[in-house]
Amino acid sequence: MQDTQKPTEPKAPARSTLSHGVKSLVALLVLGTGSAVAGLLIAGPNGQNGPGTAEAALAPPPLAATLLTATDIQPPAPPLQTATGKLARRETLTGLVQRLGAPANEAAGALQTLYDEDLLDPRRLLPGLEAEVFLDDGHLSALNVKAEAGRNLFIKRGTDGNWTAAALNARLTPHYHRVSAPIETSIYETALKLGAGDQQVVDYASVFAYDVDFQREIHPGDSFEMVYETYTDEAGHPVKTGNLIYASLDGKALTRSFYRFTPSDDGETDYFDFNGESATKFLMKTPINGARLSSSFGNRVHPISGYTRLHKGTDFAAPSGTPVYAAGNGTVVWAARRGGYGNYIVVQHANGYKTAYAHLSRYARGLRKGRRVRQGETIGYVGSTGASTGPHLHYEVYINGKPVNAMRLKLPTGRKLAEAPVIMDEFLKSRDAIDEIRAEQGAGLLSVSLPVNPPSP
Ligand SMILES: [Zn+2]
Repeated sequence: MQDTQKPTEPKAPARSTLSHGVKSLVALLVLGTGSAVAGLLIAGPNGQNGPGTAEAALAPPPLAATLLTATDIQPPAPPLQTATGKLARRETLTGLVQRLGAPANEAAGALQTLYDEDLLDPRRLLPGLEAEVFLDDGHLSALNVKAEAGRNLFIKRGTDGNWTAAALNARLTPHYHRVSAPIETSIYETALKLGAGDQQVVDYASVFAYDVDFQREIHPGDSFEMVYETYTDEAGHPVKTGNLIYASLDGKALTRSFYRFTPSDDGETDYFDFNGESATKFLMKTPINGARLSSSFGNRVHPISGYTRLHKGTDFAAPSGTPVYAAGNGTVVWAARRGGYGNYIVVQHANGYKTAYAHLSRYARGLRKGRRVRQGETIGYVGSTGASTGPHLHYEVYINGKPVNAMRLKLPTGRKLAEAPVIMDEFLKSRDAIDEIRAEQGAGLLSVSLPVNPPSP
């Protein structure tokens, strides 16, 4: 594992995280104290950085006053009471602010300002969203909503009783992080140990879900590599991770590498191999969240079998509740109990293909017979219903009604960029840029890419 973008230690140890920084700014706005805040910008409703703030933010630690635009800040008289809480499932943001002690009409009024100025979309709030209220004698005087990593929304009541809202954005710097290692127990555990997030591992598994049987085709000594975006704030703290831009598996069963790329003609982001062939196939080989699946060959439980003449499906042992994906685009033709299969889904695809999924603990919300599903969409969850000895997915593929071994199928492949020379040129530039990032971070490019993916002439 290499990481040339090691975050530097913060210059101001008292403010060790972004949220602390924001908190101190909020405290400053409300209380008029002299806390210093590094790395925050104030932005107008349109999301643009306010004039003259970039320079100020470059010289830590500036006083927050120099960061603010002409927003009228009149600090209310202390003492203020503060309370912090997270949005619960099925709770509205107004409900949360009320729960933290604000009167209903004031909570609604303050939040309406955010919605009116398009700073926040009330339909896209996720559980866990954090809010902090500042109460003055039982009345809401200010509110801080942590909209997302590096972005806080601050609302304050002026002396005239009106609410003023502003977005405080951390200045985020993009980096790339490369993670590469032999798979010791599982890709998931190894990658997380090296700093990758859940999402990167899920994305990695999704890229390879068309090619790899994660249950049986990952072996001790196989190695993987992933490169993904990370963002740090001005103090050098990692704030969030971004897209996976490179995914590679160097294994006994398969050696392949994929580059994230968005062709300019159709705008469909996908992963392409060295020669510009899409990773996507007609059906997935592992129609399950493979990040969870790739668990330890070391202590793999073995009653689970692959495809045999008697057992006309492939079993993937996975924890109960692991998402099961539609292996391809199609229509649900069965979603109900069916004898030993337990909770069972059958999806009809084009060209006489059907896929089936058994022993599910439950179906995805809204899934029913007749519904169209897209490839990779979660249709159900792993369980142990019907004649099953433990939680696993039993996956079947049928061609014109005849069961076939999904792990041996030669399936139609996705887009080949070489068929569109202009797009292929775009891809080659993008691919080389990614390889450059990998080389900077110590990747041995030749050992991974060349044997299986020779460069085009
Ligand atoms: Zn089975």
